[in-house]
Amino acid sequence: MKHHQIFHTTRLRLAGLYAGTMGVILTLCAIAFYEAMAYSHVSELNHRIESVAGTLHDGLEASLQKPGKLEPVARKFIPSLCVVGTSCAYRSTALHYLGVFQENGYYIRFISLSGHLIADGGQVPHNLPIQIETEPWQTLRASDGTHYRQFSLMLKTVNQVPWGYMQVGRSLSDIDEHMVWLRLILLIGLPTAMLLIVIASWWLAGQAMKPVYISYCQMQQFTADAAHELRTPIAAIQANLESTLNPEATDEDAWNTLHTVERQNNRLSRLVHDLLLLSRLDLQGFSAKQESCNLNDLVSDLVEEFSALAMASDISLTTNIQVTTPISVLGDEGQLYRLVANLITNAIQYTPAGGKVIVHLKRDDHQALIQVQDTGIGIPSQEQTRIFDRFYRVNSDRSRHTGGAGLGLAIAQAIVQAHQGTIQVQSEPNQGSIFSICLPLKND
Ligand code: ADP
Repeated sequence: MKHHQIFHTTRLRLAGLYAGTMGVILTLCAIAFYEAMAYSHVSELNHRIESVAGTLHDGLEASLQKPGKLEPVARKFIPSLCVVGTSCAYRSTALHYLGVFQENGYYIRFISLSGHLIADGGQVPHNLPIQIETEPWQTLRASDGTHYRQFSLMLKTVNQVPWGYMQVGRSLSDIDEHMVWLRLILLIGLPTAMLLIVIASWWLAGQAMKPVYISYCQMQQFTADAAHELRTPIAAIQANLESTLNPEATDEDAWNTLHTVERQNNRLSRLVHDLLLLSRLDLQGFSAKQESCNLNDLVSDLVEEFSALAMASDISLTTNIQVTTPISVLGDEGQLYRLVANLITNAIQYTPAGGKVIVHLKRDDHQALIQVQDTGIGIPSQEQTRIFDRFYRVNSDRSRHTGGAGLGLAIAQAIVQAHQGTIQVQSEPNQGSIFSICLPLKND
């Protein structure tokens, strides 16, 4: 494939497109995954902070009497609470149901309406400035670079007078660390995955191009073979005409030349006709006509038609019709006629004098079976798969002598396929060959 620039370029382009598309999809998925992870961490944290803040708010507000003054009962909720201006050595163990403040990173701060710290508890970040926030949620950055998630809430006294603010928060350092790891994994994983995608794309593009390349090569081979077959009779006609146009040529020379021209012309028109038939069958893919064809009549007619040729070659040509009722298939009678005729012609051509050719006709439940059996030269097993290829001849010299261009079996196979049938060969060199055609029976 690499020797043909167009295929190489197309493969490169295909691989590039595939790798590019996969790369974009993969990158988007990685970004989405990263964002989803970050969101799920933060939303879980928000949920916990909010529920703690809500519980405290409900419990504390009932005990708040004077704005900015925290009652001792607050310690029942937050054992580690330290009120500004009092000794913080005291830590109650009375009520620990909000033990979240003993967990990593949580803190609580009470701030007066004027913005002064009243009390704090938990793992209070000392480098996080105190400020009154208007929005309930904040993500703050301390001077040492640590991030904090904080929820701010205004508290009121029992008389509904604004008391001050409560801020509940938690350090995001473990989540940040987790996200740094995730970023690192994605940064290493993405290029590795991209490299694998590029290699896979190149291989996949190669696989996708293979059938196109094979059919391109077959087309090139077909064109070369067809040109070669056409050139031979044209060269023969040219050579004969040149010798006849010589002033010394006699009437007999001219007569011989005309005979040669006629012979070569017949060969040319047969070849062109065969090529046209093949290309029509290729284009159609199935038999255009769907008439009922009686195979008993077809086989009998063909054997009768070829009996003169067989007799001339001293070959016995007989039928062996093993059915009592007529067998019919749907299709193009002319094409089916051509199919069996090609096999009988070959059988006669490749069977030495004194040999036998038998045309069998059988049926099973769903199929009609036509077999053309000969006692001829046979086909070596390594050639049996190739004889159906266009222009393929086992023994070129001999086949050319018989006038064959190597298209007879290719046409037979194309006709069988157009009729949804199969064709097979069994052959032994110097013993003979059996060509078997199976065709689906017409449904009555
Ligand atoms: P051709 O026009 O050369 O006969 P075909 O396509 O009909 O081309 O056959 C391809 C080749 O298969 C022939 O060249 C011949 O070598 C071989 N072949 C076909 N039929 C027979 C047969 N009945 N016995 C032996 N060889 C055969």
